[in-house]
Amino acid sequence: EVKKNGKNGYQYYSDHLDAHLLERIELEADLRKAIQRNELIIYYQPQIHAHNSSLIGIEALLRWNHPIRGIISPSIFIPIAEESGLIVEISEWVMRQACLQMRKWQQEWELYIPVSVNLSTQQFHQNNLAQKVEQILLEVGLEAKYLELEITESMMMDICRSTSTLQELKELGVRISMDDFGTGYSSLNYLKMFPIGKLKIDQSFIRDLTNSESDKAIVATIISMAHHLKMNVIAEGVETAEQLAFLKESGCDDIQGYYFSRPLPAKELQRVFLGKCKQDGKVGAAKY
Ligand code: C2E
Ligand code: MG
Ligand code: MG
Ligand code: MG
Repeated sequence: EVKKNGKNGYQYYSDHLDAHLLERIELEADLRKAIQRNELIIYYQPQIHAHNSSLIGIEALLRWNHPIRGIISPSIFIPIAEESGLIVEISEWVMRQACLQMRKWQQEWELYIPVSVNLSTQQFHQNNLAQKVEQILLEVGLEAKYLELEITESMMMDICRSTSTLQELKELGVRISMDDFGTGYSSLNYLKMFPIGKLKIDQSFIRDLTNSESDKAIVATIISMAHHLKMNVIAEGVETAEQLAFLKESGCDDIQGYYFSRPLPAKELQRVFLGKCKQDGKVGAAKY
């Protein structure tokens, strides 16, 4: 038996593991009830045109307001939702809520820009995804071009299936962007075959951009490649004026990050951000 008593590494490791497992089981049980209990909330983060600083899109980012633990990050509970199958119900809820909110912003704020929704791996592989999306758009009364779906490179492993799913979505008229670009298995050869309108440069390349010559080279290369492939490009995780300056200089189309705004609840975003954009006439959909 490997496990020993006393204050040795094994015992500690084992206790730690049990606690971790228990927490996970508990979270999964709580997550099952989260939708019904209205504990899930969507935060919205603006996407800004690099050159005229107008608002060109808004990304929907899920939060879980746990009754005891408070706000839990999606990087913690999305994996639990994926493994337990709860992701199907949660994903559908997110897409419907985000579309409803954008329809409301159109009607009440004349805000005609797309809302971006992150697709989960399971959702992307659902065989009726395009019909599901179409059904939600019809139900909500939102035109397809005002919905953008974010996928990641790791979802594209099955090239044949991915290509046909993306083709169906494209025919529906929704926009498609590649999230976290540069962190997965980017096969540049397939990139040109997929109907992807936009690359989102992962924030890991932006973080040290100002001091790292290699990150500068990678970012400039991604921008140039995207443009050669007639794709739009947005940088994620932009926090400083220096990062913004480099991205502008390199021809990056759009910017998302704390520099402009953190993700905020809809009402909060209206108060601190949308009002000013409207007032300054700085709203316009991206051209792709
Ligand atoms: P993502 O789609 O790549 O979203 C960008 C993440 O970067 C968000 O984290 C956002 O809050 C954060 N971020 C934005 N600007 C900055 C910045 O300037 N600095 C820093 N340090 N971070 C910034 P968040 O909201 O915690 O979401 C994490 C991930 O969880 C998302 O990454 C996405 O993959 C996933 N996720 C979020 N909502 C959903 C959802 O509704 N469905 C699915 N399937 N996944 C979701
Ligand atoms: Mg995203
Ligand atoms: Mg990302
Ligand atoms: Mg991500």
